Amino acid sequence: MQVPNTRTGVKSRPRVAIRENGQVTGHPIRDELAALIGREHVLDVPLGSEYNRDASGRRGLDGRAEAVVLPGSAEEVAALLGWCYEHDVPLVTRGGGTGLVGGAVPTPGSVVCSLERLRAVRELEPGLWRMSVEAGLRTRDVQRLARENGLMFGPDPGAAEQSQIGGNVATNAGGPHALKYGVTGAWVSGLEVALAPGELAAVGGWVRKDVAGYDIKDLMVGSEGTLGVITAVRLRLLPAPEHAEVLVAFSASREEGCAAVLALFAAGVRPSALDFLDGEALAFAGGAYPASRVVGGAEADDGPPSWARFALVVELDGSAEEVASARGDVLEALGELAREIQEPVEQAALWRWRDGINPAVTSVRGAKVSADVVVPVERLGATLDSFDEIASRHGLRSCSWGHAGEGNLHATVLVDPASEAELDAAEEVMEELYELVAASGGSIAGEHGVGLLKRGRLARQWSPQAVELHERIKQAFDPKGLLNPGKKLAR
Ligand SMILES: Cc1cc2nc3c(=O)[nH]c(=O)nc-3n(C[C@H](O)[C@H](O)[C@H](O)COP(=O)(O)OP(=O)(O)OC[C@H]3O[C@@H](n4cnc5c(N)ncnc54)[C@H](O)[C@@H]3O)c2cc1C
Repeated sequence: MQVPNTRTGVKSRPRVAIRENGQVTGHPIRDELAALIGREHVLDVPLGSEYNRDASGRRGLDGRAEAVVLPGSAEEVAALLGWCYEHDVPLVTRGGGTGLVGGAVPTPGSVVCSLERLRAVRELEPGLWRMSVEAGLRTRDVQRLARENGLMFGPDPGAAEQSQIGGNVATNAGGPHALKYGVTGAWVSGLEVALAPGELAAVGGWVRKDVAGYDIKDLMVGSEGTLGVITAVRLRLLPAPEHAEVLVAFSASREEGCAAVLALFAAGVRPSALDFLDGEALAFAGGAYPASRVVGGAEADDGPPSWARFALVVELDGSAEEVASARGDVLEALGELAREIQEPVEQAALWRWRDGINPAVTSVRGAKVSADVVVPVERLGATLDSFDEIASRHGLRSCSWGHAGEGNLHATVLVDPASEAELDAAEEVMEELYELVAASGGSIAGEHGVGLLKRGRLARQWSPQAVELHERIKQAFDPKGLLNPGKKLAR
């Protein structure tokens, strides 16, 4: 039997198990891959396997992989890619599986390349502020290694315990500290990548400047597994800041809260993080709010003030003197726009609470549908208002939180997971939001990528020429269309 590749139309060898009298007698793909990578590193994938999903948990996003392969070296990754290219089998790269747009969800008939065994630290040179690690190293381990050596790795996406540095690069992940320190790509000095039709290549290096060629390294950053497989990452680090303080500013209205964001910019303050929660998100997540003190006053009551309709989490870092000076500037700039300012007794507890917003909101009705979108920062308030209006017109309760300093909102509607009607309505809400964002000069993806969930929407915000270039870049890297097919499509 010849199986056509959905994207290329190329006929390939059978990818299904051979059955005789209902018994599986062999599996042509897994058997060949076992010979290439070792039988113990080629896994069968039952339907409900986690390898068939990512963290988006969205309706209809269950994939169907033929096999999961766990290569043990960059060379094995390149060999696997080469085998897929030779046999016209789609290859879906998987990091920690924490993506929120279906990027790592395997398309039917594909082989999953999971990077979980590639965890080595190749170089660690604290004196030169740099380290080189394999792509499967967990984000938390990268952060810890930097910290233990007096350095910092700035990106801090919310699922750092499980996500991998390769996945962070492939999605160009952000997080609260991207405001001051940039998204993951800003920390990438070089990459080792497996490219079609099965070669390893190094792009970038340890130089701090390089304008010699087109920037292939930066094309790989954020490419979501559609251009090649990242096998190792050279990271440039920074000396860790000496001191950090966190303030939580509560406003009585969204209007005042968004005005406070602009007031901080106008005052020339440069927070290391400037996150927000709207009133609804605050209400849903408020129960777990950590012990805090009112700035200049007594211990705060349990939870955020009942009148609060907007909260800004402001983190300042630097030397102790710099933080003290910036703190004064923040308090002055916020003025009456913040009715109460608190500081957590324990900063780590505040950030744990911040990381817990997602599950807290999900638990309200059993499920939620979120979109990660970004608008120019001065459009944040208007976008939040319009989003709530759209959701309420569709009969759904909404809330938002995100990275205020970057105009990046995780716009969310609460749904009953058993209600198809509500799930349909949620999708309609998100489509209207994407239109709104494109019309506001924003983007459908601030930090989570396009994956499967947002494919086809990029054309709404890009000119036809730019969309065509996007497609020609894909064609140049992946002429057979086998690398994570169906993902990051512009139209
Ligand atoms: C609770 C929670 C909080 C989150 N908070 C944030 C946040 O604050 N900021 C943020 O930006 N994201 C956030 N995310 C999303 C997610 O953690 C990031 O997108 C992360 O970078 C994905 O990394 P991963 O290793 O899990 O990749 P996966 O989910 O496995 O894959 C994501 C995409 O990258 C590709 N890919 C993975 N590894 C490689 C590789 N080595 N080479 C080539 N392609 C590869 C995959 O094919 C897929 O398209 C959050 C997710 C959760 C569940």
